[in-house]
Amino acid sequence: MTRAISLRDVTKTFPRNVVAVHRLNLDIAPGEFVVLLGPSGCGKSTVLRMIAGLEDITSGRLLLDGEYANHLPPGQRQLAMVFQDYALYPNMTSRQNIGFPLRIEAPRLDDGPRVNEAARLLGIEDLMDRYPAQLSGGERQRVAMGRAIVRRPTAFLLDEPLSNLDAKLRNRLRAEIATLTRHLGVTTVYVTHDQSEAMSLGDRVAVMRDGVLQQTGTARDVYRLPDNVFVAAFVGTPRINLLRATVYAPLDGRMSIDFGTQRIMLPQPLSDDHQLLRVQMGRPITVGVRSEAVRIAAPGEMRPSEALLNGVVQHVEYQGHESLVHVSTGARHAEVDGLEAPRPPVARGHGRRPRKHRVWRMPGRGGRSAP
Ligand code: ATP
Repeated sequence: MTRAISLRDVTKTFPRNVVAVHRLNLDIAPGEFVVLLGPSGCGKSTVLRMIAGLEDITSGRLLLDGEYANHLPPGQRQLAMVFQDYALYPNMTSRQNIGFPLRIEAPRLDDGPRVNEAARLLGIEDLMDRYPAQLSGGERQRVAMGRAIVRRPTAFLLDEPLSNLDAKLRNRLRAEIATLTRHLGVTTVYVTHDQSEAMSLGDRVAVMRDGVLQQTGTARDVYRLPDNVFVAAFVGTPRINLLRATVYAPLDGRMSIDFGTQRIMLPQPLSDDHQLLRVQMGRPITVGVRSEAVRIAAPGEMRPSEALLNGVVQHVEYQGHESLVHVSTGARHAEVDGLEAPRPPVARGHGRRPRKHRVWRMPGRGGRSAP
């Protein structure tokens, strides 16, 4: 059995009026894998803890399979939570750690078959007689997962379960978690501040900021059609280029975007997206440009469908399969307040003021990038 989880207008206020979560609405379908993504302190863990019953809900409703569950004790929710520190008992072997929840529920139960089944699913049969101190971080993480699945929960709640691991292991384990939870068909809510983890894992990503849900959608939706500048800037590496500009309609009727020192003419007829710009005429706007939407061309090489911004290449970062090219265009960069997304490496560490630079991505081996 797997659970539908719904949060209706859920708010959590801590003492001293700290509003950790503000009027959150989120429906998670049975078997769905949803990632809560956002910078540190945005309220992700609090959401998870309210679903688990570890934190009271100040106002609003939690529904489990459509039933009002605000006051259901954690033990009756049939949910399994895995934390980033795993919380294994140091004096118990893997076998005892995994079997522990079953022994609490039914002390006389022979937990052997269920523990063995969990060990087999996680590929840790050889580690069952070891103590946590004798396990690597990744192995401990698997034992913690074993302890979560042994009770056959109706949903998994995972709070940054991979954050203590090195990058390589993290990548491997996140693929394993995705495979495992899909194999078990169990609803999963996964909390992370790591946007690349979120993008690679979830059926759906819910982006939060300061306790407020900004957008939910597939990874593709939030990347390609962000609802606001915060989501655009938080999701994607290298970070999207955000430029301040103004929309104008010059005398010949074609619209243009003015970046201060440079202006680009918009193609005609205008696309649906560009039509939206009409209402912004004369007002300051922020233009977001993903690096892959840009190519670097020598003077005179421009194609008719393209718009041209002149710039000077400041720095090229070779990254194997592609290179990041930092270009100074003179246009003003727009910053997003309160953004704690992992920034692209280009934004720091090479001694120049990063706000002047745009990042364009080029395929490896020195070729020109696709538009
Ligand atoms: P992180 O990624 O750093 O774990 P988060 O997005 O999970 O952050 P939460 O732990 O949910 O954020 O915290 C949200 C807000 O609520 C923060 O401002 C935090 O300081 C506050 N907060 C969390 N727990 C408590 C508490 N027990 N008492 C008071 N304030 C709290």
